[in-house]
Amino acid sequence: MNVFTCPDDFEDLIRGLPDFDNHEEVVFAQDEESGLQALLAVHNLSRGPGTGGTRLWNYDSLEEAATDALRLSTGMTYKNALAELPFGGGKAVILSSGEIRNRRELMLAFGRAVDSLDGRYCTAEDVGTSTEDMAIVSETTSHIFGLSNTSGDPSPHTAQGVLMGMEESVKVALKTDDLQGVRVLVQGAGHVGYHLCELLYERGAKIYVSDINPRAVARCEQDFGVEGVAVDRVFETEVDVYSPCALGATVCNEILSKLTCRVIAGAANNQLQSDTLAEALEEKGILYAPDYLINAGGIINISCEVSQTYDSKLAIEKVAGIRFRMQEVLRRSKQEGKTTVAVAKEMAREKFTEGKSSRVEMRTVSRALPMC
Ligand code: NAD
Repeated sequence: MNVFTCPDDFEDLIRGLPDFDNHEEVVFAQDEESGLQALLAVHNLSRGPGTGGTRLWNYDSLEEAATDALRLSTGMTYKNALAELPFGGGKAVILSSGEIRNRRELMLAFGRAVDSLDGRYCTAEDVGTSTEDMAIVSETTSHIFGLSNTSGDPSPHTAQGVLMGMEESVKVALKTDDLQGVRVLVQGAGHVGYHLCELLYERGAKIYVSDINPRAVARCEQDFGVEGVAVDRVFETEVDVYSPCALGATVCNEILSKLTCRVIAGAANNQLQSDTLAEALEEKGILYAPDYLINAGGIINISCEVSQTYDSKLAIEKVAGIRFRMQEVLRRSKQEGKTTVAVAKEMAREKFTEGKSSRVEMRTVSRALPMC
């Protein structure tokens, strides 16, 4: 499973990446026995422990994996601050290379890596990992959220928040109070995308689904009568709303001229390849619902585990705050003549302070490490 050789100048490599953004801590964790290679990135601790899920993905290079970890963990700082949660920003990526035969050993080693940060990073599931994986991780660290005996799978709550952001955006961009007949393309029908399709189906939207996994599309076709779209036809399909629910950076310069939608509202983190695209979208008359604002439902649900017994009713009430924050962003964006991205960023920055010390290092997480 070991795929990358960590260079001697690892620290320089990380600090030199354009997305380093003054991260407070970055660790490259390795375990020879299980083959674990993981990057754990903590962007900002000013509101609480750096909290964000663990992505398991096949990366082409260490730089690509590190850039993903850094961008995702910075995004978590903004997401957690905007939702006023007692968390800072953090994220982990496990570097995969195809089929994993020793998943349990890998997850146990990853738990040791999380534990070695002494609570400065708290994890949960993300793309490529599941609540079952997290149950294994919890055997070697207690710095973990979203287990089935606590707040559980965050995805249905994330889908709820995305729906709220989409509804508010559609009200403004399409001047319609509901989603009946509104054409929505959901890209990625995984944990969140599937639940989002269900919510859209209940509201009478015309749903299109695209996924690299044909079974994910077939499931939505069967359950919600969606129309499947080939992966390379996504931007050729005329829709009102484009909902990225797979990976980030799908909104880039190359596809700008192809976009026919009036709204972009989805669950994926870091949907815009760069923030400068926000102006270009506005010029094209496309309303962008900032990802870290509307996809916060899952982490808001998770936050209900902190300092109280988890209560699903309270979680639902708190997730509903996404609708009001989206309304606030839309109001300020119109009033101040700024993009939705600029307004959401300002609102988040008011709620956290810049990170202080920074530590970048490689670490071996063999079984000898003390467990929690
Ligand atoms: P998931 O792994 O369950 O689903 C992702 C889906 O996207 C999979 O079905 C996969 O086959 C598909 N996919 C991958 N590449 C694709 C491509 N190029 N085109 C079309 N489909 C593609 O992940 P998830 O938990 O549903 O999360 C989806 C996105 O939302 C991720 O970016 C994640 O970081 C973000 N997010 C998730 C949560 C959550 O609660 N799960 C919370 C906040 C943000």
